[in-house]
Parts: sequence; structure tokens; C-alpha cells
Amino acid sequence: MENVLRLAVQKSGRLSDDSLKLIRECGISFTQAVGKLKSEAYNFPLEFLFLRDDDIPQYVAEGIADIGIVGENVLLETGENVQLVEKLGFSKCRLAIAVPRDFGYESVEDLQEMSIATSYPRILQSFLDKHQIQAHIHEISGSVEIAPSIGLANAICDIVSSGSTLMSNGLKEVELVFKSEAILIAHPQLSEAKTQTLNQLQFRIQSVNRANNNKYILMNVPNESIPKIIDILPGMKSPTVVPLAMSGWSSLHSVVQEDEFWKIIEQLRQAGAQGILVVPIEKMIL
Ligand code: ATP
Ligand code: ZN
Repeated sequence: MENVLRLAVQKSGRLSDDSLKLIRECGISFTQAVGKLKSEAYNFPLEFLFLRDDDIPQYVAEGIADIGIVGENVLLETGENVQLVEKLGFSKCRLAIAVPRDFGYESVEDLQEMSIATSYPRILQSFLDKHQIQAHIHEISGSVEIAPSIGLANAICDIVSSGSTLMSNGLKEVELVFKSEAILIAHPQLSEAKTQTLNQLQFRIQSVNRANNNKYILMNVPNESIPKIIDILPGMKSPTVVPLAMSGWSSLHSVVQEDEFWKIIEQLRQAGAQGILVVPIEKMIL
């Protein structure tokens, strides 16, 4: 069928579960047989190709897959020509330079003439060029964090999420090189029919991600506090206000971004809000 999109996802690794969870949350059903390279959805024109993440940008650039889910770090490193369709908000991590803890690091100038081990030579090179640093890049494919302790390099440039791996290897983070998250990429020239399928998929992904970032909140409020509470709630045009059986009180409903909610909860309580409920939203269509 000409409108069927072929999606490349990581076969097994840090991106796999969240990639497939997102597709399921979009209402798309499929089964993934153990060890199989391909699969197809039952209720949406989508096929799956399960690959190593490093190969995904190339498959999409060459049109073997139409779209793919990959870390932005991997796309930047491969430099393949694809379109970035949507940032997906999971697998957040950063590429950072780290040095041994006892190294008296002051500025990026300290990297001059150093030897730096990394699996991301292109991204590192462009960071060094930007800061006019001449350093020796030692490309290795894994276990980068042990390079300084075995004398392979003075520093490393590697993926960090919490920093605990660096700590346990006696390293400290000194420069942020690139912030990454999972992204949806597409072949630059998709057919009309496939573009339509991609637009439908993107619409669903946006509805799911918006819903995940927002919460529905309900609270009981004395009527005289309603204007004050509406002022506190961010970006809200018109909350729903429903009278409670107890006279003088109302229930106020609204949608807020989850992180904003935590910032304002104390203000809401001080303004008289009680019985605050925060409820997940499944889909959010604008
Ligand atoms: P493959 O076998 O497919 O080549 P891999 O070992 O290269 O897998 P993973 O470790 O599964 O890759 O990481 C895949 C992607 O997940 C990375 O490119 C990065 O975007 C992201 N990532 C890596 N480490 C973390 C982390 N600690 N936290 C969050 N995201 C991460
Ligand atoms: Zn990989």
C-alpha cells in the first residue's frame, strides 16, 4: 500500500521501550515477535524495522525506512540528511566533557593539547573548533568512561544523564557539549500519500505528548477567593466553576502544565483552595 510508512526504531536499548510506548499511546496496535527484524501495525498504515540506533539516520536518509526514532546526538554525529519532524521528550541526556576529579579545571582553554576519548568525534570536533581548541580526539566505541584511568586519554566526551557513572569512575563533568532527546526524523522527500500518514501520526504524537505534560486539576474554593485563584493559575482563560452543594463554595477545574502546578501549589492553598485533585489527561487535542 502506497501510504504505509516504514518506521525504524531501536531494536533493544535505551530508546526501544519509550519509542514503542509512544506508538501504543497513539492508539496503534502491533506485536513484536522476539528476534524479528520487521513487524506491522494492525490498525494504522505503519510498519516497523528494528535496528541498531546508529544505523537509523542512514536508513531514513536512503529511504529504506521512511521515518525513524533516534537520539538527536546520533543524528548529529552521523550528519545524515533527514528532516527533524518532532522532538519527543524522552531519552533526555547530555553529551559532556569530563576530566579526572583531581584535575584543576578552570576553562575550556585547559583542553588545549589534551587527548579526549569519545564515541562522538564529529560533535566533539565541532565543539572544539567553536572554542578554537586543538586537541587529540581518540575515537572508541564503548566504555569511554574508563579511558582516563587506563591511560588512554586525559579526558572524555560522553553521554551523561545523572552523572553517577562519571562519579564512580573518578571523573567530573566540566563542559556541556550538546543536550539531546529522542526525535522523530523523516526522509526528506516522502510521497504525497506517505506525507499524509506522517501528518496523522504527528498529530497523534502531539496530542499524547501534550496530554503527558499537562494535568487536569480540580479544587474546592470559597466563592470570594475565585478571582484570586484565577489570577494564580497560569495561562488560563476561563476555568470551569461549578457550585458545590455547600453554599458559598465552588469547584474550580482547569488544565495546567505539571511543572507549573508544583510552583503554584502553595499559593493556591494560601488563597483558600482545598481538596486539590490532580488528574492525568489521556489525550489533549487543541
Ligand atoms: P545500539 O545497540 O542500538 O547501538 P547503544 O548502546 O548505542 O545501542 P543506548 O545506550 O541504548 O545505545 O542509547 C540509545 C540512545 O539513548 C542514545 O543515543 C542517547 O540518545 C540516549 N541515551 C543514552 N544514555 C542515556 C541515559 N543515560 N539516559 C537517557 N538517555 C540516554
Ligand atoms: Zn548505538
